[in-house]
Amino acid sequence: MTNFEELSTEDKPTWCPGCGNWGILNALKNALVQLNLPKQNVLIVSGIGCSGHLPEWINTYAFNSLHGRTLPIASAAKLVNHELSVIAVGGDGDGYGIGMGHFIHAMRRNIDITYIVHDNQIYGLTTGQASPTSEKGFKTKSTPHGSIEIPVNPIALAIASDATFVARGFAGDLPHLTKLIIEGIKHKGFALIDVLQPCVSFNTLNTFDYFQKRVYKLENEKKYDNTNKIEAFKKALEWGDKIPIGIFFKSERKTYEEELPQISKTPMVKHKIDNIDISYLMEEFV
Ligand code: SF4
Repeated sequence: MTNFEELSTEDKPTWCPGCGNWGILNALKNALVQLNLPKQNVLIVSGIGCSGHLPEWINTYAFNSLHGRTLPIASAAKLVNHELSVIAVGGDGDGYGIGMGHFIHAMRRNIDITYIVHDNQIYGLTTGQASPTSEKGFKTKSTPHGSIEIPVNPIALAIASDATFVARGFAGDLPHLTKLIIEGIKHKGFALIDVLQPCVSFNTLNTFDYFQKRVYKLENEKKYDNTNKIEAFKKALEWGDKIPIGIFFKSERKTYEEELPQISKTPMVKHKIDNIDISYLMEEFV
């Protein structure tokens, strides 16, 4: 039996046929198999939205949290047991809307989490309202005259927030996305992988065809240096006829858990607690 079969479950995903979520699920399974990670050492945390179901269909530890709260839960799990591989998944509405504050602070802390964002530029689960990454002018149920706001640019924001690994993938290119997820999991520190994920039911603008005509790979650009922050910013601002995918930026610095003296050597779950006397606390309640 291969690892892939071990990672599969009997449950059938309920996503719409043809949705970009399938590509992300399969790329993540491929990545876990290729990394040969024991499933008991992997935790996948999700939020609310179509993406929130992903952990149900991979046989690892899982936590389906609240809307926008994926990163606080994933951060807490990592701090309690930093020997776990912690993967957070969420949508653009979940992570770049209600979860935006957590997103920025997790990046500047450099907690060793891989954050995969299903960026479909719309609220899919609630049947098609404008999201933080919807394009200006995009007509949806909530913006019948076209979205007025400028979309959030998660790649530029991540670079500005000192994330140490910033990448964009495309759900229609499975081998490339698999490689990005492998690199993100192997990276020591916060890794953002924003994934262009067409919502085939409600986003009629940003379709597979739309992206297939526009995406190009940064690794094929001979002169591109993904350790140069200024160059990364320039690429992060490219969006239109050409859309870059790949690793925009990576750097090295100590993780939050390495800097925290209480847990830097031993994970909190392995701390001895049998010599802690809490009787004085209990007396207060007698
Ligand atoms: Fe995918 Fe959109 Fe269907 Fe959600 S509503 S499962 S994002 S196609």
